[in-house]
Amino acid sequence: MSQPDMTLRRRDRLVGRFRREKVDALLVTNVHNVRYLSGFRGEDSALLVTRGRTFLLTDARFTEQAEAETRGLRIITRKQGMMRAAGVAALKAEAGRLGVEAENMTLTQEKELRKWARHMEVRQTCGMVERLRMVKDATEIAAIRRAAGIAEEAFRLILPQVRPGKTERELALALERAMVDLGADAPAFPAIVAAGERSSMPHAVPTGRRIRSGDAVLFDWGARWQFYHSDLTRVVFLDRIPAIFQRLYPVVLAAQRRALASVRPGRGVRAIDTVARAYLKAHRHGKHFAHGLGHGVGLEIHEAPGLSPRQDYRLKAGMVITIEPGVYVPGQGGVRIEDLVLVTRNGHEVLTSTQKSPELVLSGP
Ligand code: ZN
Ligand code: ZN
Repeated sequence: MSQPDMTLRRRDRLVGRFRREKVDALLVTNVHNVRYLSGFRGEDSALLVTRGRTFLLTDARFTEQAEAETRGLRIITRKQGMMRAAGVAALKAEAGRLGVEAENMTLTQEKELRKWARHMEVRQTCGMVERLRMVKDATEIAAIRRAAGIAEEAFRLILPQVRPGKTERELALALERAMVDLGADAPAFPAIVAAGERSSMPHAVPTGRRIRSGDAVLFDWGARWQFYHSDLTRVVFLDRIPAIFQRLYPVVLAAQRRALASVRPGRGVRAIDTVARAYLKAHRHGKHFAHGLGHGVGLEIHEAPGLSPRQDYRLKAGMVITIEPGVYVPGQGGVRIEDLVLVTRNGHEVLTSTQKSPELVLSGP
C-alpha cells in the first residue's frame, strides 16, 4: 500500500472513532498528527476531518508542496488567521459537533475558533489521533528500522574517537554529524554524552569535560529518518570499569533483560515497568530509578504509550517502544541501557543490536 493510500485509511479509522467521542468532525492542529493523517510534510497547517471530506488548511508558502504530497483532500490556501479559516471551513462543511485537540490549542485560539464557528458545538478531545499512532503500520516500522540502523552505524563509526582527551561535546557532535552523513534528516534529539560522574544526570547536556582513561561514558542518541525516530542508550568504558560501575552495570542490564523478556501483546505497560522496578528495588536501587521504563517512538521521539507506574495501556502488535531502566547515584555515576523494541504478534523484536554485554570496554592503542 502506498503512502497516500495509507493516509486515506488512517483518516477512515479516525472517522470510525467519531461516534464514541461524540464529534462529527475533528480539527487537527498537532503538526505530527497532520503529517500522519495527510502525508503533508510542511508546517503551520491544520486538517479538518469530517465524515465525508478532509480539508488541509495551509498558506501560500505550502500550497504546491501540499498538492504534491497529499491525496483525497481539499487544500484551502488561507489568507486569514488559522482559527478563522478553520471556523469558516467547518461552518461551510456543516460539520456539526466540532472536536478540537485540547492538548494542542491555546485558550486564545479556542476563543477565536468559537467566534468564527458560531452556533457550532466545539468539543475538547484528547489523544484521538495519538491513540491511532500507537500501532505502527508497515511503512512506519520500516522507517523506524532505518532510523535505528543509521543511529547504530553512526555509533560504530565514531567509537574509535572515544579516546582520552576528547570532550563530551566533540563526541556528541561527531555522532550527530555521522548520522546526518548516513542519510538521517537530523538527529532525533541532541545526543547525550556524559562522562564519569556526570552520567548520574539522566539528561546531561554534553560539556567541554574531557574523557579520561578509566571513565564510563554514557551515550543516548537516535536518528530521524523521513520523520521517524530511533532512540538507544549505551555505556562504554575506557580501559577499565570503575568499581561503582562494576556494581551498577550488571544490575541495570539484568533489569533491562527481564523487562525485555516480558514484552508481548496483551501485557500491561505498568506490569512491564514493574518487572524492572521490582528488580532494581530488590537490589536496593529502587530510589535511584526515578523515571519511567520507556516510551513509544514514532513521528515523535516520546509518544504514547508511556511505560510507567501511572499508565494503563496494553501492548499491541505493531507498537514500538523503548525499554530503558537506569540507576543514577548522584555525584558518582549512572547507568542506563536502552533498546528500541517492536511488539510483534508472538512477542517482540529488539530493533537495536549495538553490543551491551559483555560491557563494551575500549582500550587505547
Ligand atoms: Zn534515549
Ligand atoms: Zn528514550
